[in-house]
Amino acid sequence: MIAIFMDELHYSKLMIPLVLDDPEYLAGQLVASRNRSTRITCDLEADRLLGPRFATVNPPLWEIGHLAWFQEYWCLRRRPSGAYAPSILPDADKLYDSAAVAHETRWNLPLPDIKRTRGYQADVLERVLRRLTREPEDESLQYFVRLAVAHEDMHAEAFHYTRQTLAYSDPFPDAGAPSEPAACSVADVDLPGGLFRLGAEPADGFVFDNEKWAHDVRLSPFRIARVAVTNADYLKFVEDSGYARRDFWDEEGWTWLQSAQQQAPRYWIRPDDTWRLRRFAHTILLPLDSPVMHVNWHEAQAYCRFARRRLPTEAEWEYAAALDSTAGKKRRYPWGNAHPQAAYANLESSNTLAVNACARGDSALGCRQMLGNVWEWTATTFTPYPGYVVDPYQQYSQPWFGTHKVLRGGSFATTQRLIRNTWRNFYTPDRGDIFAGIRTCAIESAG
Ligand code: FE
Repeated sequence: MIAIFMDELHYSKLMIPLVLDDPEYLAGQLVASRNRSTRITCDLEADRLLGPRFATVNPPLWEIGHLAWFQEYWCLRRRPSGAYAPSILPDADKLYDSAAVAHETRWNLPLPDIKRTRGYQADVLERVLRRLTREPEDESLQYFVRLAVAHEDMHAEAFHYTRQTLAYSDPFPDAGAPSEPAACSVADVDLPGGLFRLGAEPADGFVFDNEKWAHDVRLSPFRIARVAVTNADYLKFVEDSGYARRDFWDEEGWTWLQSAQQQAPRYWIRPDDTWRLRRFAHTILLPLDSPVMHVNWHEAQAYCRFARRRLPTEAEWEYAAALDSTAGKKRRYPWGNAHPQAAYANLESSNTLAVNACARGDSALGCRQMLGNVWEWTATTFTPYPGYVVDPYQQYSQPWFGTHKVLRGGSFATTQRLIRNTWRNFYTPDRGDIFAGIRTCAIESAG
């Protein structure tokens, strides 16, 4: 199949002026990303390779093949003319092109079996690694390698929450807790607002089109919580009939609740007098000092009404995470520009930590865990920044503008190499299956 997305000249103008990386470093990223997605899926067999037809999950066998297809499409098949060479797998586009193959049909496809699918993955990866060695200075190849790594990391997180959805075992049961909780004031951080540069700068390296480009926004003074809403906080809402009282829910949220029939966040259960939650294949006692997780945007809004708080806008969130007001600059990560590690942020781990863990990762303005632990819903609807121009992977952002809500910050299942302060995630407001929680702001402004 030949597909044209734009002529090479136009496309090259859109490209970020990337600093070329050592191809060995990029090869290492490709391999690490593959190892992670494989580790999360390697025990799936028989019926679990297809799994149930849920709107929020893919058949894993399809998704594993799709990873290889995506990598091959962008890193091997794209020609300078804008045309695409055929895949090494016959009919690959008819099977794995997520833009062309409707979600509900993915269970009915004549997919290769798992052995052939893994073989296709390995074959493509091998060829990309060889091409990186052969063409170490090809800027567009480096761009698409970064894209493929990010894509695979995002699907690894999707596999991770798919396992939670389907009550499969924890893919990382042996991972230890990387950071001890440390004292943290529960008071809000009082922030003056003012002009703020929201979004990514060209010097930031590989970023997605939805982060481009930084632009001035004006923020009123605001107060934001230092830590995320805990299970203990949220329990008060649940026990105060939060899921029964109409006044906490807006119209759309109430409609969702009537169809979902939940009385607590999904996975919460109370078999006796004690609240528990299902975590992968087991139930555990509700960890009271961990952030509430698996709440959707409607639940986040309802909680805010109960607590007389509000969600931050995404600009407020990024300001609180990124601004170093002393230096008058933004940071790539809340703690600075040093690469993430366990002491700073709970990323690429196996479970959430208490909301006061990772003290060394506090933002300059005093917020904890702005990256890692749980994604945080914002009040903001996902829309393009001013001057938005679509990137070559056109289906990444554009189809979802206007219907999705922005989440920020990454979760325990997000990789360290993926996340940064300007990263915008986006889901529909009914999605409670993802690793998302809540951080709130005071309703009255500080000024
Ligand atoms: Fe994909």
